[in-house]
This record gives sequence, C-alpha cells and structure tokens, in this order.
Amino acid sequence: MTGDVLVRGEGLRKRFGGIAAVDGVDFAVARGDLIGLIGPNGSGKTTLINLLTGHLAPDAGTVVLGRATVAGAPPYVFAGLGVARTFQLTQLFGRMTVLENMLVPGLTRPHSTWPGAAARARAYLDFLNLSHVMHLEAKNLSGGQQKLLELGRALMLEPTLLFLDEPFAGVHPHLRDELIKRIQELHASGRTFVVVDHDMESILRIARRLVVMARGRKIADGPPGDVRGDAAVLAAYAGLQ
Ligand code: ADP
Ligand code: MG
Repeated sequence: MTGDVLVRGEGLRKRFGGIAAVDGVDFAVARGDLIGLIGPNGSGKTTLINLLTGHLAPDAGTVVLGRATVAGAPPYVFAGLGVARTFQLTQLFGRMTVLENMLVPGLTRPHSTWPGAAARARAYLDFLNLSHVMHLEAKNLSGGQQKLLELGRALMLEPTLLFLDEPFAGVHPHLRDELIKRIQELHASGRTFVVVDHDMESILRIARRLVVMARGRKIADGPPGDVRGDAAVLAAYAGLQ
C-alpha cells in the first residue's frame, strides 16, 4: 500500500438467511489507491461495500475509518468522515432536475450555502460533461449519463474515498470511456477509489490494485498483473469454484 490507511475492515461477516454473503473478509484501502474490486455475480462485492460505507452493519468484524471505529454507524457518519459511494442501480430523484439532484447532497454538508452548493454543482456538471442537461429531469438521461450524475452527487460530498458499484454496467462504450477518464482525473487530483465491476477487462484499464471476491471470500489481492493469472481467480471466473 502506498499511503496511510483510510478505511480498514477486519474479519467482516454478513449473512442473509443461509447465505454467507461476506464470510470473513479483511480489506484495507490506503490513501491514493485505485482498487478494482471484482468477482462473479453474487460473490459479495456489493455487501462488502455496504459494510464499508455504513449501509449494512456487520454480523462480526470491525470497520475503522481513520482512528474511529464505525462498524454499524449510519451512512451519514461515514460521509462526514469523507466516504461516499454510488449504487449498482442508480438512486437518483427521477423527477428532479440534474442540478437539483446535485444540490441535495451538496446542501447536506456543514456550513453549506445555496450559492456555494450551486457553484460547486455547476463546476462538477461541467467536469462531467452534463452542463447541457442540467435542467432536464434525471429520468430523461441515458443510463450512462445517470451513472455520471451519480458520480457527481457523490462528489458533492467532497469525499476523500469513493466506492463506485458497477459504474460501467449497461453504459455505452463512449460514455464508459468518458467515465474512466473522469475517474482517472479525480484519482490524479488526490481522491481514492474502490471501483466494483464484474467485467475484468474494463477494470484492468484503471485499477492499480485488484481485489477478487468469490463466494463471500477474498481470494486474491495484489497488483493486477499478478492477480490476473492467479489460478483461483481463473477458476472463479470459469465457474469452477
Ligand atoms: P455481488 O455484488 O458480488 O453480486 P452481493 O453482495 O450483492 O454480490 O450478494 C452476495 C450474496 O448475498 C448473494 O447470494 C445475494 O443473493 C445475497 N444477498 C445480498 N443482499 C441480500 C439481501 N438484502 N437479502 C438477502 N440476500 C442478499
Ligand atoms: Mg453487486
């Protein structure tokens, strides 16, 4: 790892009925990381993100954010400590405009003012190439534009660490390239990312470190070049595990 640890999950477990969705996972994110979190559908990626962002409380294990132990705390506590996330299925306000969607998280920040939040929203919409659709209702955007807007909403929290859950799924290749570029630029300007995807190829274009899940467990963690050829990873992807 390159920098200080932003978040550390240890011994994380989460069951749903008979299913061990996350089954004893250690996962730490260092400042400056750009981690690709991959694994077949149902392997526990989203559940792990939920545990690391306050959307689910673990059955066992701890989550430490900076120096605070936060396992089980609600998402706003994580957001206040610089953690934001996007969802696999976008969670926008469909009948509000793109700009209004940006203002909602923007105005939840302490000491935020309407003009200040509006100026930041416009700047991020510009950065995400969404200025021209600023006054459209969010439900009228394409799938890819909705993913960009979700990233914009997360950025309005001015997070240090962003978890993006399947940002490329169902996104037109042109917009996917745009999204990849924006993530790279945000990373270069100092933000830390964990990007979930089930498609190894898109993630290999950006990840500095790959973490692979299979059946609720972490089966590989390291530089993409090493992980890619790992026998357990190949087996998981061939459906043999
Ligand atoms: P991934 O994101 O890798 O596709 P998930 O974390 O969504 O995997 O799911 C891991 C396992 O936990 C799957 O078997 C899924 O069906 C189950 N699961 C996830 N969330 C719930 C839930 N809220 N209730 C019941 N089962 C769930
Ligand atoms: Mg998922």
